[in-house]
Amino acid sequence: MLTQAVTGESQLVPLDAKRPACGSRTLLFGLNAAALAARMAEVGEPVWRGKQLAEAIYRQRIAEINEITTLPKALRERLVTEGWEVGRPGIVQVFQSVDGTERYLVKAGAETVETVWMPEGDDGEAGDGSDGDGDNAGVAAEGKGWNRATICVSSQVGCAVNCQFCLTAKLGLQRNLTAGEIAGQVVVVFERHGVEVGRDRVNLVFMGMGEPFLNYDNFMGAVRLLVEEVGLSPQRMTVSTSGIVPGIERFALEPAELRPKLAISLNAPNDVIRQELMPINRKWSIEAVMDAVRLVKLRPRERVTFEYVLLGGVTDRPEHAAEVARLVRRTGLAAKVNLIAWNPGPGIEYTMPQAEAVEGFRRTLAGEGISTYLRRPRGRDIFAACGQLKRTIEA
Ligand code: SAH
Ligand code: SF4
Repeated sequence: MLTQAVTGESQLVPLDAKRPACGSRTLLFGLNAAALAARMAEVGEPVWRGKQLAEAIYRQRIAEINEITTLPKALRERLVTEGWEVGRPGIVQVFQSVDGTERYLVKAGAETVETVWMPEGDDGEAGDGSDGDGDNAGVAAEGKGWNRATICVSSQVGCAVNCQFCLTAKLGLQRNLTAGEIAGQVVVVFERHGVEVGRDRVNLVFMGMGEPFLNYDNFMGAVRLLVEEVGLSPQRMTVSTSGIVPGIERFALEPAELRPKLAISLNAPNDVIRQELMPINRKWSIEAVMDAVRLVKLRPRERVTFEYVLLGGVTDRPEHAAEVARLVRRTGLAAKVNLIAWNPGPGIEYTMPQAEAVEGFRRTLAGEGISTYLRRPRGRDIFAACGQLKRTIEA
């Protein structure tokens, strides 16, 4: 059951217990403690070594078996000889913005994906004071140069959804990431910045490359690893979807102790405009999406986020703001709106909204009693802002 071979590096690797030996290699990262225990039992070791391995690779963030000093030296040497590896994704390139944002190319198998570190967040999901779910759960990261941070994580290489304003769409879908590759992005960035879990205020947003709900099992597998093995709270995680209704329906069934917060990329005031921008709207209309969202049982004080990309002249008019206010109110959901001024990308023919249009839009929504936040563009100079991720090395 644990012997399935991987024939090509770009092939979809199943998660957790089914994580295969790669040729003669045995990769550990991506397996949970129970699966690691099973591997240990197979080589005649006590099952509690599984817990030790999980502690070493997810909490101590050790990337080499030789350095796992909780294992006897002879065992470490034997495992290495037999082709065992931690197999964690690694950062292969770093782009640094003038605003402190960092964009990473993270090697996952034969591909690279993109992950973004935003010290002090972007006023979207992190630290905007709107979450009311224990933002005091950590103290300032003293001496680290940041008080809180947000990490934007990718779920797929490319994306199949084809939103007309998004650079990632230009790649098409190349492949799904495994659970280990999704969680691994977080662990390598934690390692780089010396993040202390349980102490530092770090939020995760699954808003990088890809549509998480079209890679549902691996996405939730990653959440499980991050919660159960790394020790993070799902209330510090937000997953964004373009509106994949079956995915939202499954998400609604997840237990509260594993379920991240939900953000919906609304991006338009009505179906006519939305289906021009997001072809997926022909499959699942705004109303179908809202029906699915209403199935999610929100925690006390939790709110659903509606993301709204402001495209100059296309979605940023005063009448659009009034329509969005009506639409959001009609859902009856505890909700907030995150406005995102469109970030430009090569080959995309939209224009950025005027500052007055953005401010007018925000004012209209707020005037209608809707909690509205303006997301700060972070790292535009290194192509790290929303919708700009495209495995670009020519930033
Ligand atoms: N696929 C998921 C998550 C990744 S996209 C989704 O679409 O929700 C994360 C957010 O970036 C989405 O809200 C999307 O609408 C927004 N976005 C995409 N391209 C953008 C761009 N060029 N400028 C600003 N925001 C963009
Ligand atoms: Fe995919 Fe999200 Fe970009 Fe749409 S906005 S193409 S769903 S990554």
